Amino acid sequence: MSEIKSLLRSAKDKLAAADIAKIDAEHLFAYVLGISRMDLHNAVKVEATLKALGDFGVIEDTFAKLISRRAVHEPLQYLTGIAYFRHLEIEVGPGVLVPRPESELLVEAVLTHIKNLEEKVAGEISVIDLGAGSGALSLAIATEAPTTRVIAVEKSPEALVWLKKNVSVIAENVRVVEGDVSDVLPGIKCDVVIANPPYVPDSQELPRDVAGFEPHIALFGGPTGMEIPQQFITAAARLLKSGGVLVIEHTEEQGSAIAAALSVDFSEVALHDDLVGRPRWTSAVRR
Ligand code: GLN
Repeated sequence: MSEIKSLLRSAKDKLAAADIAKIDAEHLFAYVLGISRMDLHNAVKVEATLKALGDFGVIEDTFAKLISRRAVHEPLQYLTGIAYFRHLEIEVGPGVLVPRPESELLVEAVLTHIKNLEEKVAGEISVIDLGAGSGALSLAIATEAPTTRVIAVEKSPEALVWLKKNVSVIAENVRVVEGDVSDVLPGIKCDVVIANPPYVPDSQELPRDVAGFEPHIALFGGPTGMEIPQQFITAAARLLKSGGVLVIEHTEEQGSAIAAALSVDFSEVALHDDLVGRPRWTSAVRR
């Protein structure tokens, strides 16, 4: 165990020197051992796992490589291949945005709306996820609200690989559609649209972990950051039934621009806070 402790200590120092949370060393070591981070504190479990894995040199080497990659700011979730979103384990890697905890709130709002709808209307409730990325939002809704029929729309070929993989593992009934929001699903009308569009202004600096590794197509929304969200809002207006609901994520500065864009075709526009009280998403009802 003292061997492990010193291994972890030097990995933590290496990460701290690169301005990265020390805890990531524990996440990565647990990943290498194939156990949970909490189990790292269980000496019996660790000993048994090390014994089963055999060659400690290989473990050390694998761990050292991961720590080096994390130290140059490669996202933790790309290294482990897993992002946790609500109750799901979503597979991620280069080419797809890592799902963020704030998007869980959009899902929560959609689920609440779906529950209300279920009391009023019989039959399936149709949901379209625009710019689905890894599929985190679509899959959370499909698994938590089984009466829904979810369509996940994505245009990035790299993201589509992850999306299809996650759909096949988690909820095969989610329909994946490759296409651009501007003309996808012609003639289709749905009850709910959920969207986490790229909305970061092109000139905005992002943390190294994000800007250096995550797909820019999923992040940057045009010169003001509103150009792509505007396309998503236009698409939502086209795809929603009258009375249908849109929930859309945005930056904390975009609330009024989003409300202005929505005022053309939507009413009941409401701005909502994220987990730390920043106004980060909006809901609205199609007129
Ligand atoms: N919230 C993301 C970030 O970390 C941006 C995601 C998006 O543009 N949809 O910057």
